[in-house]
Parts: sequence; structure tokens; C-alpha cells
Amino acid sequence: MFFFVKFFFAKTNFTFIGCINMQNALVWFRNDLRIHDHEPLSKAINISDNVLGVYCFDPRDYVLLPAGFPKTGSLRAKFIIDCVAELKNKLQQLGSDLLVYVGKPEDIIPQLCVDLSINEIYYHREVAPEERHVEDELENMLFKHKVILSGFWGHTLFHLEDLPFPVKRIPELFTDFRKSIERESTIRACIDAPQSISPITPIPFTQLPCLEQLGLSEIAVDKRSVLDFKGGENEGLERLKDYLWTKNLLKNYKETRNEMLGANYSTKFSAWLAMGCLSPRKIYEEVSRYENTQIKNDSTYWLIFELMWRDYFRFIMLKHGNAMFKPGGIQDLNVKWKKNHDLFELWRIGKTGFPLVDANMQELLLTGYMSNRGRQNVASFLTKNLGINWQLGAYWFQSQLIDYDVYSNYGNWNYAAGIGNDARGFRYFNIIKQATQYDSNGDYVRYWLPGLAKISGVRVHQPYALQSNELLDVDFELTRDYWHPIVDLEKSVKENERIFNAALKNN
Ligand SMILES: Cc1cc2nc3c(=O)[nH]c(=O)nc-3n(C[C@H](O)[C@H](O)[C@H](O)COP(=O)(O)OP(=O)(O)OC[C@H]3O[C@@H](n4cnc5c(N)ncnc54)[C@H](O)[C@@H]3O)c2cc1C
Repeated sequence: MFFFVKFFFAKTNFTFIGCINMQNALVWFRNDLRIHDHEPLSKAINISDNVLGVYCFDPRDYVLLPAGFPKTGSLRAKFIIDCVAELKNKLQQLGSDLLVYVGKPEDIIPQLCVDLSINEIYYHREVAPEERHVEDELENMLFKHKVILSGFWGHTLFHLEDLPFPVKRIPELFTDFRKSIERESTIRACIDAPQSISPITPIPFTQLPCLEQLGLSEIAVDKRSVLDFKGGENEGLERLKDYLWTKNLLKNYKETRNEMLGANYSTKFSAWLAMGCLSPRKIYEEVSRYENTQIKNDSTYWLIFELMWRDYFRFIMLKHGNAMFKPGGIQDLNVKWKKNHDLFELWRIGKTGFPLVDANMQELLLTGYMSNRGRQNVASFLTKNLGINWQLGAYWFQSQLIDYDVYSNYGNWNYAAGIGNDARGFRYFNIIKQATQYDSNGDYVRYWLPGLAKISGVRVHQPYALQSNELLDVDFELTRDYWHPIVDLEKSVKENERIFNAALKNN
């Protein structure tokens, strides 16, 4: 292949026509499974002659967590496989392909560089320690092969380089962070999806793994799920279109976002955001268009506000690193967390005897999703009523959530356990008060706990407090779990507050 290459000498400047190698680039996809607003993909196509994508199902993501459950449970693994399948399809339609392997990127990619004469790798940089370790390992391996690794920032609404403060000075309070970026930063425009890609040839034949190859087995999602979550960029973009335009739901988001029942009280964008099928900047662009053509109100702002929370946890991990995973969290607070396995197990499978907690935990167990209101309540119950180590809760969420995102999960758990950067002492959710406020007729609880179906209205939130004459219609066997809840709500909060305050005092 002939190229025009310009050589600049001391005083002369001439054009040389010679025979040099093609520039072959690989785009390493991770949690960025899309083609829109993808800087590494766009840069690779602009700079190199031929481009292929690669995705590795890293066996380290499919091991067991310290608590004994799979790091990636079947529900999320299925979602990821669908995302990868769709990306492969899209790249094929553009003329290229996504090579898919089960293996460590630092083993697979250097070998591909040799086999396919690859000069450069483009990818989105991550922040969490394990993900960064993989990048470091890959860089070490590629150095030997003289292949350039080009990493880009790209998961957030606000670009790292556009923050008005250096990483070390990222505010510890979300409100300070938000006000600063709102005042001093702007959001970059989305990058267009490519129209075509010239591939590296011959393209190796690769296939997607099935769940068994990842050490998992198929689980059917409960048909009561809020949505039929299907992985992939098209599905993410379709949900965006549906929520904003077809169903016109955004205008009421702020009023409905704390509900728990149904597809439409909140956006449900999280799983597609977590796997990178949706770019937050794409959402921002659509919200701006909605504001210009439909309505601009508190609700349209609030969606962007929530996306700033998402950004915040990623930036906070960039600042604090590994501390977010430790029992004492970012504050390094030595709380004497309990390790009561039996109580934890009752929480995990939704058998605490408190219908609000149990309904939410059943929803998570059977569908891989739970509302934000639900997550806050069950996290508070685990840490403030049961006094159990928050890490166990975070592990279960990590295993089970289809929208698991390391930053949002560990950031929110730090916050809920009171050991995060933005902690405000011992704060807890009053489960009964929350239940009567956010499930004011008990419909959510009855939806997930059919055993309680015959207890009408708000009484369903405290079946253990009902008088025998109120239970005439109720099937005793079906409701047995609810006569003896596992803790006394008030006493347990007081006890755990003492433990927490003792840790604060000794800090
Ligand atoms: C203990 C706990 C663990 C959580 N773990 C995760 C997780 O692993 N992955 C995850 O995406 N979210 C997590 N969240 C945040 C939040 O509950 C979910 O993002 C939200 O419920 C997803 O539903 P949605 O897309 O309909 O949200 P919407 O209300 O429609 O919000 C829109 C988007 O804003 C972002 N967002 C909203 N609330 C938060 C928040 N509190 N923190 C960070 N981002 C937010 C999400 O990207 C979400 O998709 C967690 C919250 C708690 C309390």
C-alpha cells in the first residue's frame, strides 16, 4: 500500500512516496458497548486505516465474591451478552467486527496484536482499582510489542478535563461539587456514530459465549419485572425515545421518581448506562431538545441532577480509590459491624418480616432491579436496623443488579452506611414511615408478596400488628413469615446508633 509521508529535514521539506505498513487499530470495548458518542472508536477510525473491535469476557468478573455469590450473576451476565451481541452486529453492519473472547484482556490483546499486525489500541479508561489493574497489565504486555495504548475519558456527563478543580480537590459534598460544575463547566457535544469502518482482514471468526461457559446457569426473569430489560444500544436508545418522546414521561419525573411500582415512574436508563449502551451526553442532548420543544421544568432538570450524582461517585472514586471498598469506607470509620449470617440471609432472600424490605428484596432477587427508594430503604435496614457489615449488602447488589456500576454501587453503599465522604452521622430510614409514604395504599408490597394480598390498604405494612379479628380472611400459612419480624425496629436502631457513635468518638 502506498502512502504520502512528509519528512521534515533541517532546511528542506519534501514529500516521499514509499511503501509502509497500514495502520491497524483495535478498539477495546469494556463498559462502553455502543457506537454513538464513542471517542476511542471515532479516533481509531479517523487515525487508522483498518479497525476491529474486541471484547473480553474476563474470567475474573465471573468468580465468586468473598460472600460466596457470583461477582456477576446470571441476570446481568445475560444482559451483558445481549449488549455484546448487538455491538458485534452493529460493527459488522458497518463493515468491521467485534472479536469476542473469554479470557483476560492482557493475554488476548497482545496475541491479537501479533497475529493481526496491530499498531494501536484505543479504549475508555476506567477508575476503579481492579479495572485499572487490567489496564496496567495490558500496558506492560503491549510495551514489549511496541503497541501504543490510547486511553480516553468517556463515561461521565462532565469530562474530567472540564472540571473546575483538580482531582485532589473534588469537593467532598455533592452539593458543592454540583454547584461548581453547574457554574463553571460545560457538557461536551456527543460524537457522531461512524457510517462505515474498514476492517483489518482477514477477520478472525469468534463467537459469543453462553452462560454455561461463564460458569453460570440460565435464570428466568420473573414476569412481574418493571421492564423487559434487554441489553444493547438499540434497546437503550429506544427506552430513551420512549420515556421522553413517545410516552412523554419526563415532564413529571421529579414527582414520580420515588415510586416503586411499574415501568414509568423513573427512566430505567441505569442498566444501559452501566454497560455504556447509552451515553449520558446523549441523554443530556435529548433532554435539552425536549426542553426546547416540549417543556423545561424541575423534572427535566432533575434527570440531569441525578446524572450528576452518577458522575460524582466516579470522580469520588478517582479521588479516594480503594478506600470506598474497605469496611470503614472513605471515612475509615471503625464501626463494629455485625457478621450475623442468618440475619443477612433473611434480608437477602426477602424474609425479614417487614413487607417493604421483603418486597424490594424479592424484586431484586427475581428480576435484578430495584427502585432507588427501595435501595435506600433496604440498605438502611441492613446497616442501621440489623447493624450488618454494609459490604455484604454491596456484594449482593453487585451480584444481582443488572445495572450494577462499581462507582454508583459502592458510592451509594458508603453513603447509606454513613461512612462515605458526604456522611452526616447516624441517619436511618424509618421503614414503616417510608412504607406508608411511598407505598401509601400498599399496592407495591402486595404485588411482590402475594401472601399478603388479602390485607387491604396501608395495614399491609405491619401485618404483625394486626388483631386476630382483622385476619379472618388471611391464609395463615402464606403469611407466616410476617407474624414475627426479625428485629424490633426502634430498639435495633438505638443499639446500632450507639455502636456507630462509639466509632465516631474513637475516630
Ligand atoms: C445502595 C444503593 C446502591 C445502588 N447501586 C447502583 C448501581 O450499582 N448502579 C446504578 O446505576 N445505580 C445504583 N444506585 C442508584 C439508583 O438507585 C439507580 O441508579 C436507579 O434506581 C436506577 O433506576 P433509574 O434508571 O430508573 O433511575 P432514575 O431515577 O431514572 O435516574 C436516572 C439516572 O440517574 C442516575 N442515578 C439516579 N440516582 C442515582 C444515585 N443515587 N446514584 C448514582 N446515580 C444515580 C442513574 O444513572 C439513573 O439511571 C444505587 C443506589 C443505592 C441506594
